[in-house]
Amino acid sequence: NIKNMTVIDVESSTPEKHTAAEMVSTARRAFNTGKTKSYEFRTQQLRNVKRFLKEVGPELCAALEADFRKPEQEIYILEIEVLIAEADHFISHLKDWMKPEKPEKPLLNIFDKIRIYSDPLGVVLVIGAWNYPVLLTIGPVLGAIAGGNCCIIKPSEVSLRTAQVMCNKLPHYLDQDCFPVFLGGIPETTDLLKQKFDYIFFTGSPQIGKIIHAAAAKNLTPCTLELGGKSPTYMDSSANIEIATRRILWGKFANCGQTCVAPDYLLCDKEVERKFLHYAEKIITEFFGADVKQSKDFPRIINERNFIRVVNLLKNQKKAIGGQIDAQDLFIHPTILVDVKPDDDIMQEEIFGPILPIITVNNPEEAIEFINAREKPLALYVFSNHTATKELFLSNTSSGGVCINDTIMHVGVETLPFGGVGNSGMGNYHGKRSFDTFVHKKSVLFKSFFSLGEKAQETRYPPYSKNKTDF
Ligand code: NAD
Repeated sequence: NIKNMTVIDVESSTPEKHTAAEMVSTARRAFNTGKTKSYEFRTQQLRNVKRFLKEVGPELCAALEADFRKPEQEIYILEIEVLIAEADHFISHLKDWMKPEKPEKPLLNIFDKIRIYSDPLGVVLVIGAWNYPVLLTIGPVLGAIAGGNCCIIKPSEVSLRTAQVMCNKLPHYLDQDCFPVFLGGIPETTDLLKQKFDYIFFTGSPQIGKIIHAAAAKNLTPCTLELGGKSPTYMDSSANIEIATRRILWGKFANCGQTCVAPDYLLCDKEVERKFLHYAEKIITEFFGADVKQSKDFPRIINERNFIRVVNLLKNQKKAIGGQIDAQDLFIHPTILVDVKPDDDIMQEEIFGPILPIITVNNPEEAIEFINAREKPLALYVFSNHTATKELFLSNTSSGGVCINDTIMHVGVETLPFGGVGNSGMGNYHGKRSFDTFVHKKSVLFKSFFSLGEKAQETRYPPYSKNKTDF
């Protein structure tokens, strides 16, 4: 029942109902005791997240299957295993990360000690998106725990069953005062945002990102905004087109196109398009069989509202592959559109569905001009064997990240920061960057009463005279 999926009964789904204000003040009191700051507490909570993922994994998979038929293997590969590896990475590096940094000493401070402390921020808020709800909610929470904070965890109500599992099960693993789960839709989240937080980490659309940023500004609360947009893909004839097609289609059709870094559209010339379509037909069957609807590896559109939105984008378009829909089942067949015009509706918003429009360009310069005429994307994909072409895109476009000759895989490299730029977001995370996001870098200068040091700095004391400054 689609309608019921988006209506939240907070009363029945939250084990113990707390108002936003109560949750935040309990967390604030817990933070003020100092208990979240110790290395032992942080690593214990990180281990507990790992235990939660391992023990509750099957329940999360069942909930995601019920929410939008997300395949179990995809949940393990792209969400649960990624988080377990990230938690392990945090546990093995946390001791080092927590140590005060020793920056290089300027000559003037030769007798001093200078350090940068990584101070916990306090009570932070993590708001997750529904499309990879476990990864995008728990991922930032790992950073908040590692940074020594308390954290209010707000999963998206859109993947409701998954949010309910997190809400019911996480309190059995994490300290309940420090890491409460807040379940709610727009009115409840609006109320939550009236509270004062020390940091807000939001994943979602640019449109809601603006609401979050405005709410945060009222308390001068810093934020990370992990947003989306239309991530372009360019391919030239030097690429291995069969491999490139498989990688583009995997990036596009994984999660039924509902991925923030999915290749949104393809820019190429007509000859490359012809070859791409030739392989695409074969590869779609290879991935999902002859009848995609029967494939257990192809999810559905999350809800009726999004289904209608995506189907409307297909109107008046020339379908080279796919185009079949089933409204009862929220099913849209993997679809490739050709002869798409830049001012068509499908080119005005992030598609977030299994449709790949192809726009004809005749050279990389035209593609770059097309990309630069639009908002800065979260990801940019370039398929080419020419070094000069790769460099041309790297030096003449701006995007959150770039992946050359593949899609999405750059997001999984734990030593690379992940985040947007301009309309696709601000701030970044993953690995050490997550820790850095959730701490304040406090500069500390230690001076001594060493008399030589005092002598060396006497120019700062009045009375000022030329004698003191002429060396
Ligand atoms: P969304 O912006 O609709 O919702 C995100 C969160 O905001 C949810 O928890 C929701 O409850 C909350 N929310 C919604 N309306 C609100 C309001 N008026 N006031 C306060 N809170 C509100 O996004 P979505 O549909 O969950 O996700 C899709 C979007 O997120 C796409 O644009 C996608 O590209 C982007 N996204 C980005 C990333 C990333 O890491 N950069 C990851 C996944 C999704």
